Amino acid sequence: MTSSFHITLLPGDGIGPEIMAMAVDVLNTVGSQMDLAFEFETALIGGAAIDETGEPLPEATLKTCKASDAVLLAAIGGYKWDGLPRHQRPETGLLGLRAGLELFANLRPATILPQLIDASSLKREVVEGVDIMVVRELTGGIYFGAPKGIFATETGQQRGVNTMAYTDSEIDRIGKVAFETAQKRKGQLCSVDKANVLEVSQLWRDRITALAADYPDVALSHLYVDNAAMQLIRWPKQFDTIVTGNLFGDILSDAAAMLTGSIGMLPSASLGASGPGVYEPVHGSAPDIAGQDKANPLAQVLSAAMMLRYGLEQPAAADRIEQAVTTVLDQGYRTSDIMAENMTQVGCKAMGEALLRALA
Ligand code: NAD
Repeated sequence: MTSSFHITLLPGDGIGPEIMAMAVDVLNTVGSQMDLAFEFETALIGGAAIDETGEPLPEATLKTCKASDAVLLAAIGGYKWDGLPRHQRPETGLLGLRAGLELFANLRPATILPQLIDASSLKREVVEGVDIMVVRELTGGIYFGAPKGIFATETGQQRGVNTMAYTDSEIDRIGKVAFETAQKRKGQLCSVDKANVLEVSQLWRDRITALAADYPDVALSHLYVDNAAMQLIRWPKQFDTIVTGNLFGDILSDAAAMLTGSIGMLPSASLGASGPGVYEPVHGSAPDIAGQDKANPLAQVLSAAMMLRYGLEQPAAADRIEQAVTTVLDQGYRTSDIMAENMTQVGCKAMGEALLRALA
């Protein structure tokens, strides 16, 4: 029986429409092979939405997203809109989308593909086989805690304040996403905190430890954040799934991503408790190469694979797309951002066509 899915597409700005077109072709091909029907609806966000409606996230876009099974986003932003006031900037549309869909969990994989090992700044033996998923809490912690601000003190000094706070329910909901993610991977979860110094981290550790009883198939470990940063660089292969708060996750997910050495290859997912998640490449809209058929579409295509795996419960279709990416790299196809000696340089469209051939 055919399974049907309603997907909102948000191509956005810059290279967004070019890479989105490739991802849609790939999804349609995999869909026809695996009895999955995708109904796509394209909506406006970012600069494209500002030009059309005056707002970076029109009400109609949020409504369309909320009514869909998943949202596939490309990228937003560009020089043209950089001078606008903050509330009208393309980035404000993205933050509004995350808030509107209550996306509290950010999943950022850092996978080293064997064909791209030399793009990493670390030694081959250290990064070969690295396959990490960082699950970062996205809507709590020190970025949102109160009080916050810069206050005058009685001695006439200024005092800057932010508050790192988590409630047990906030920890539990990100913890559940992390355990379930680990279940879909190798079943190892490392929780990162600073429980030796911070009370908020002690509560984090207590709640994550308590949750472990519900997931007997997941092996839980804990690391302090300073040690985790060191271990990520020293021997990243020891990690499978990492769960951590907003601040630590912001830093560690970028460090983990850079193990792979290539921004045009990195997908991500942002999930809420229920309702659709948003799947998007880590990179931006690359206005410097927009409209020139130079963009690497693989992060977008891998974001579509994450959508199938984490949003639509279609792991076999996700495997198929990830395998096609491996195949085209094995065949030597490279866009300019990942070009290496003796490889075949292709543009965005030709990379997309190579993917479709690999799927066939
Ligand atoms: P960027 O990621 O767009 O580009 C950084 C560099 O990487 C550029 O040289 C670009 O050409 C290259 N690059 C990025 N993606 C590529 C791809 N798929 N293929 C080949 N090369 C690629 O970051 P930036 O230049 O700092 O930002 C450009 C715009 O994107 C800004 O307006 C910024 O606000 C926005 N941005 C959006 C998002 C998002 O939509 N989530 C994220 C980051 C930046």
